[in-house]
Parts: sequence; C-alpha cells; structure tokens
Amino acid sequence: MNRYVRCPRCGSEFCKDEPWKKICVDCWLESKGKSKSGNQSHVAELKMELDEARAKLSYYISRCRQLEMELSEKAAFPGLGEHIKDLIFLAHPDKHNNSPKATAVTAWLLDARKELCQCGPN
Ligand SMILES: [Zn+2]
Repeated sequence: MNRYVRCPRCGSEFCKDEPWKKICVDCWLESKGKSKSGNQSHVAELKMELDEARAKLSYYISRCRQLEMELSEKAAFPGLGEHIKDLIFLAHPDKHNNSPKATAVTAWLLDARKELCQCGPN
C-alpha cells in the first residue's frame, strides 16, 4: 500500500511503498555520497513507482486470467455443483449391493466434489 510520509531529514514528502524506506530518495542518495539532483532523484522515484505499478498490474492481469479460467471450467458443467450431492447419494455402493462400479463412481464423484468445492464449504 503506497502512502506518502514526511522525510525525517529534509521534511519533504516521499512515497513509503516499502517498510524499509525510512528517508526520501534525495536523502538516501546523499547518505550514500551520491550527488543529489532534485529533478533526477524525483525521476528515479517516479520510475520506481512506475515499476511497482507495472508489477502490480501484471499480477492482477494474471490473477484475472486465472479466475476467468476457473470460472469457465465451472461453467462447462452448469448445475453440476448443485447436483453432485444427489449424484453421490444415488450412486452410493450401499444402494447397489456394494457393486465395484458404484464404489468406483462414488469415489470419482467425491473427488469431483472436492475439486468443485475448493472455493468454499458445500
Ligand atoms: Zn529527505
């Protein structure tokens, strides 16, 4: 979370986007013995902010793609989420003289329910 704070050395505001940033870029450069040129350091700070914004953007873009994929996978079987409980009930081996086929299908349905319900209890 970006927040602007006052530099304890020079009193100017800077973007404290990392917990380890205690002073502004100008004062940091000065403390490292590098020449401070107001305009250039401001540009450097803006570049750092831009890099971070780009990193966040690419994170959110890939997160959106991931969520869209999950959504389309769920939409591929509309109603399955609601009926899987009934399917497990209907296929249960107890209702089919413990037939191996019923056991296998029930196990598969339980796995499928686990996949479907990863986003919450159901
Ligand atoms: Zn400063």
